[in-house]
Amino acid sequence: MTPSVDTQDQAPAAASGRVRGPRKGTDLGQWKVSGRTPLNHNEEFKAEENSLNVRQRIIDTYSKTGYASIPADDVHGRFRWLGLYTQRKQGVDGASTSKLDAESLSDEYFMQRIRLDGGQLTTEQTRVLGGISRDFARSTADVSDRQNIQLHWLRIEDVPEMWERLDSVGLTTLEACGDTPRVFLGSPVAGVEADPIIDPTSELEALRTEFVGNPDYVNLPRKFKTAITGSRTLDVVHEINDVSFVGVNHPELGPGYDLWVGGALSVSPRLGERLGAFVAPEDVVPVWAGVTAIFRDYGYRKQRTKARLKFLLAEWGPEKFRQVLQDEYLGRELPDGPAPERAVGHADHVGVHEQNDGKKYVGFALTAGRLSGDALVALADAAEAAGSGRIRLTPHQKVLVLDVAPENVDSLIEALRPWGMHAKPSPFRRSTIACTGIEFCKLAFVETKGLAARVIDDMEQRLQDVEIPTPISLHINGCPNSCARIQTADIGLKGQYIGEEYVFQVHLGGGLASPDREEGGLGRTVRGLKITADDLSDYVERVTRTFLDEREAHQSFAEW
Ligand code: SF4
Repeated sequence: MTPSVDTQDQAPAAASGRVRGPRKGTDLGQWKVSGRTPLNHNEEFKAEENSLNVRQRIIDTYSKTGYASIPADDVHGRFRWLGLYTQRKQGVDGASTSKLDAESLSDEYFMQRIRLDGGQLTTEQTRVLGGISRDFARSTADVSDRQNIQLHWLRIEDVPEMWERLDSVGLTTLEACGDTPRVFLGSPVAGVEADPIIDPTSELEALRTEFVGNPDYVNLPRKFKTAITGSRTLDVVHEINDVSFVGVNHPELGPGYDLWVGGALSVSPRLGERLGAFVAPEDVVPVWAGVTAIFRDYGYRKQRTKARLKFLLAEWGPEKFRQVLQDEYLGRELPDGPAPERAVGHADHVGVHEQNDGKKYVGFALTAGRLSGDALVALADAAEAAGSGRIRLTPHQKVLVLDVAPENVDSLIEALRPWGMHAKPSPFRRSTIACTGIEFCKLAFVETKGLAARVIDDMEQRLQDVEIPTPISLHINGCPNSCARIQTADIGLKGQYIGEEYVFQVHLGGGLASPDREEGGLGRTVRGLKITADDLSDYVERVTRTFLDEREAHQSFAEW
């Protein structure tokens, strides 16, 4: 049996709609309710062994025997536990996306996702990544909107040497994908921010060392996303993670975290909910373990399209979820706590900012997250020339250089501009993100990153004399999944193939908590409106000009 296509971050497209709990009496494959008998093929291969065992088979066998020798359950299944996906066969058009199976859509080349918890890199690690990209990945390198780096065009024969080089500088691909705890999003300014609510550096490090590769959490119903921040900018998109810890000041207990669970986008988007519980810094590890174990033990394993934590939360509600967490997993009550305060400042950290030690950090916008092997090496060189050894990636596809002496800021900015890294970007270069799209993704219907670059160039030309006082975010997806978070953008575009035409369906007015809006909200679909790639620049220009003409003072796009 061929496993279902599950190439990038999302499940195969299902009917869109609200997230609802299950019908009563249905066997949903919850381990604690109905036992551990696998109810689908994914669950079968996950039950056979620890999926991380495939790492040794890749090193000992497949890298020597070649792509054709790899069994389907490994190449289309367990490889994901090591961050490896087969990439889309070149030349297979978007019309074929939902008609072909995983094997027919797959190339013999791989995408390798490298997990960077908290987006943290040293300049040495960045240089090694650049070298791997140049030597094995045709100089590809994309910054994802989850603080990862993704390389393309990898051959199975080169994987052991790539992993050796990553190991040598303390980088890993372990659980970068698969039904596992994926990369831990962390505030990219943790430890250097001038005035945080709380510095989450130790909590993030504890999560990483305790849980990456931990066999207790290697077989979850589906992917599981975590975020932690203590920044007043609310910079880790906490509303759309399975579990989030958001910095708050408790009036009696001091700084700690507000606990959120059950957020996720995809085709049935749902923002996370607060449990109303305060998590002291020393409780982050046990609370994370408890929430993740609830997902492992009670998550719905029967259908992959219903296997995210948001579906369980829809059935239980936040009160029951908190009760189960306290009674069955922690054995004690958590104190009530306050909600996060309204965001202050821009969560993407672009531009020049004060650190807590007199140095500066500088945030650079890319073009839809795209870098290259050469650009990574140039980034490491420029950062070191500016006296820095530390780089961070953000959940907004941005790059930060930390620890820059004030006198080196200008030279750093000049050195990185030719590589497409901009500290003073135009509004659309700053706030446009795009997913992988048809260039490499097997679920895509349309091209995305090249289109994003074209629209950005067009907007820079056409709107150069127009003042855009508030950021307008443009997010472009290659399919109805939501790797580029279209429902949380001012203008969100969803690639589809309808009636023998490639089009984008438009969502307007979404956004996450920011200085412009107290709470996140999902955009509304503009029914009947379908835009082709050729018409996209005209559409974005028209919407932008209309918004600027019609908005009242200080009105944001979401309020318009
Ligand atoms: Fe994700 Fe884009 Fe691929 Fe769809 S096309 S699965 S949104 S990367």
